[in-house]
Amino acid sequence: MNNTERLYYTDSHLVEFDARVVAVTTDAEGRAAVVLDRTAFYPTGGGQPADTGVLGGARVVDCVEAEGGVGVLHVVEGGAPESGASVCCAVDWPRRLDHVQQHTGQHILSQAFVELYGAQTRSFRMMADASEVDVDLRDPSDSAIERAVDRANEVVWDDRAVRVHNVTPEEAARMPLRKDSAREGELRIIEIEGFDFSPCGGTHARRTGEVGLIAARHWERAKGLVRVTFVAGGRALADYRRANRTARAAASLFSVARDEAADAAARLQDENKQLQRRLRAAEELAARAEARELVEEAGEAAGSTSVVAGGVTGVVEGGVTRIVARVFEGRDAESLRRLASALAAHSNTVALLGSRDEGGARLVFARSAEAGADMNALMREACQSLGGRGGGRPDMAQGGGPLAEKLSDAIEEAARKAR
Ligand SMILES: [Zn+2]
Repeated sequence: MNNTERLYYTDSHLVEFDARVVAVTTDAEGRAAVVLDRTAFYPTGGGQPADTGVLGGARVVDCVEAEGGVGVLHVVEGGAPESGASVCCAVDWPRRLDHVQQHTGQHILSQAFVELYGAQTRSFRMMADASEVDVDLRDPSDSAIERAVDRANEVVWDDRAVRVHNVTPEEAARMPLRKDSAREGELRIIEIEGFDFSPCGGTHARRTGEVGLIAARHWERAKGLVRVTFVAGGRALADYRRANRTARAAASLFSVARDEAADAAARLQDENKQLQRRLRAAEELAARAEARELVEEAGEAAGSTSVVAGGVTGVVEGGVTRIVARVFEGRDAESLRRLASALAAHSNTVALLGSRDEGGARLVFARSAEAGADMNALMREACQSLGGRGGGRPDMAQGGGPLAEKLSDAIEEAARKAR
């Protein structure tokens, strides 16, 4: 394996170059890979993804360091050239520029955190849509992070020179490095004029102005550090467009100006809460009125017990216990409970309510304090005959089961036992 000459070290803007094929091999995943005597393709490393592009007639889909870090493997699709061949190569520039903007943006943002708060960056990742730095920042807040972002953009708009220094470890020791290098031998130091010195093997802008803009999208605490998600350059524009589109779409739902969408949503939420409160009060009133009606009908039907779907059956036993039994279609548990409670508010009353739909049957039993029957015991029995489960307190119980066709019988049986 040769030691590939890395053209991107000296010129991060070099896109087209000629090279000689030194070897054709496979990478660790068994993909066809080409080794060149020299390359402008950046292999994955230092938090920065690999370049893509063309190599002769083949497409470069990935680049990785060869085992031992002595060469670059260009993973190709579409026919690798032969060993010894001369090839024309081209790096995909939009992707490279994007990486240059994110990577240089990271150097600047990281140093802004150091300058303002003495907060070091512990790791960096460039992902498909945004990048992350993990910063050792105490007391993070929106305003603290925005201050660092403001400082970083000042440096971007100063359009400072970005220089590469290849130096010995002794020379590096005399530089105000932001972080120490883990490498031995000659070091590559990236200087952002008058602002930052960092050892780095990545691809960087020529001047900070090329970064365009740095924007923090989000921050959160992670593993004792603060993870700041940011976008730079073209990504910042793309992210602004997305955010703007989202904000405008939300605002148009409320027919307000873009920046008023959040207030409008908050107002709607408040209104919704008030409506819910009013709805609950109205449902309470309706349940009481329905209960009164059922109690009256139960009085007229004194002496007989038969539960009819959708019909009302009432029994008044010697003027002592009034039983209101009823089966509803498709009534939810909450509504049944409300009606049962309203019925139980009448003296000497037992409410045996059921409802059924495709899903099965549900039951709510309740009684007033003077009525003696045990709702819990009645409910357990009724649920057994419905093939389900239920229970509760002596004065209020609920349950259900899948055998909806047994619901009328179950309630009728409970009514007999409640007397
Ligand atoms: Zn770098």
